[in-house]
Amino acid sequence: MINPSIITKFNEILGQEFVLTQKEDMLTYSYDAAVLDARMPSAVVIPQSSEEIGEIVNICHENRLPLTVRGSGTNLSGGTIPEGNGVVMSTGRLNKIIEINEADMYAVVQPGVITAKLAAAVEAKGLFYPPDPGSQAVSTLGGNVAENAGGLRGLKYGVTKDYVMGLRFFDAMGNYVKTGSRTVKCATGYNVTGLMVGSEGTLGVLDEITLKLIPAPRAKKSMVAVYDTIEQASETVAAIIAARIVPATLEILDNFTIRAVEDFSKAGLPIDAASLLLIEVDGHPAVVEEEGEKVETLCKKLGATTINVARTDAERDKIWAARRSALSALAKLKPTLVLEDATVPRSKIPDMVKALQKIAEKYKIDIGTFGHAGDGNLHPTILTDKRDTEEFHRVEAAIEEIFDDALAMGGTLSGEHGTGLAKAPFLEKEAGYSSILFSRRLRAALDPDNILNPGKITGVQEQLKSA
Ligand SMILES: Cc1cc2nc3c(=O)[nH]c(=O)nc-3n(C[C@H](O)[C@H](O)[C@H](O)COP(=O)(O)OP(=O)(O)OC[C@H]3O[C@@H](n4cnc5c(N)ncnc54)[C@H](O)[C@@H]3O)c2cc1C
Repeated sequence: MINPSIITKFNEILGQEFVLTQKEDMLTYSYDAAVLDARMPSAVVIPQSSEEIGEIVNICHENRLPLTVRGSGTNLSGGTIPEGNGVVMSTGRLNKIIEINEADMYAVVQPGVITAKLAAAVEAKGLFYPPDPGSQAVSTLGGNVAENAGGLRGLKYGVTKDYVMGLRFFDAMGNYVKTGSRTVKCATGYNVTGLMVGSEGTLGVLDEITLKLIPAPRAKKSMVAVYDTIEQASETVAAIIAARIVPATLEILDNFTIRAVEDFSKAGLPIDAASLLLIEVDGHPAVVEEEGEKVETLCKKLGATTINVARTDAERDKIWAARRSALSALAKLKPTLVLEDATVPRSKIPDMVKALQKIAEKYKIDIGTFGHAGDGNLHPTILTDKRDTEEFHRVEAAIEEIFDDALAMGGTLSGEHGTGLAKAPFLEKEAGYSSILFSRRLRAALDPDNILNPGKITGVQEQLKSA
């Protein structure tokens, strides 16, 4: 239980309306998009300014209260599941685009700005903010930075870390820290910006984010290639990369996912296809024409039975809206959906696709596979019912085998969804104990009382004492 005098202080700073303490008000803040048990916080605070954030962090620091920052709670790794006695800080009111600088091509935003809102605002000025997680219509830029979110355009344009020029944040002791700059180059001090990106709320509370913008591509061409086998589709992915063509987007869907998506989105996808590749090339119109043709030729050579090229913006939008609905479409099928994002070097995509098929057969479970094939970042999605404990044990064993296979192929446990609580127990498999110890020591030095998002990434921090 939180001391009532602390709630009084929160009320004085924010006004009672923005301090939640009733169970029914806090329920939504007790879980996120990961399949993990919910934990109710002691209080939820909703600040609107830097000053208010700073005061709350100071109170948490003085009272050794765990503090979990929350954007939209769409993360898939348990990163916003709070400590039972802790405080959740929602960034929902920190939603201003502070500046879009066209001359120097950067944007300055508060952390609660919705990703798609910034993308649309800069597009209106002929600029481009490429990172586009499938959740962009609801996720926040603070959450994207804290997770180092990827998305559909990672192959050509990179991920969130490639666009963060500078940050302002409060550390665990309530100090205001400024990193990076608004210049293209910046070589002063440690690369603290790099450290903060992907830190999942464990090293500081982001207050202001400066993001790089680039000129918008002049032309785009989207197409859907249809295959009779998923092996042919995955081999096409490897062949496109090997041909030195870098599409903006190169996504794969298996038959299970195609059926779910078509049922959900009615986009006209061929439900009998074993697999689809959704591809977009962009850039100068002449290059788009040339690369588009090369991609079509490669798709046909490797077995595509049909290639549908979007002729209008509306057709193009339909393709990508359908792809973005994949998770929601699959989620309708069974009570529990476990979305994984183990990632392999791109050339290993055909091997990973085969490995997933074997795992589904071995554990007798339903796995829908889709994802950012061009990045080697598949999303094997297991459909199950957590209440069926016998089946869920098989699901857990399957997940561990997916991790093992990805690591054996030189891959990683997470391409974009982060570590959070969900993958913390497995991190040692990938990074080794010394790496975890290094991160724990770093964290202990910056947050000696372990108040910022405890348990995420590095596991239980207390273990440091006996290490
Ligand atoms: C349908 C769907 C599709 C998705 N598609 C993708 C995808 O294509 N690519 C991808 O990468 N992810 C994807 N995700 C996962 C998720 O949307 C991303 O991880 C996103 O970055 C989370 O943003 P959020 O605002 O919801 O953050 P939250 O879930 O609220 O928080 C995520 C983490 O950031 C921390 N955090 C949030 N704000 C701050 C702050 N101001 N300061 C410090 N820490 C902070 C939190 O403590 C937490 O650890 C998808 C999720 C869903 C549900």
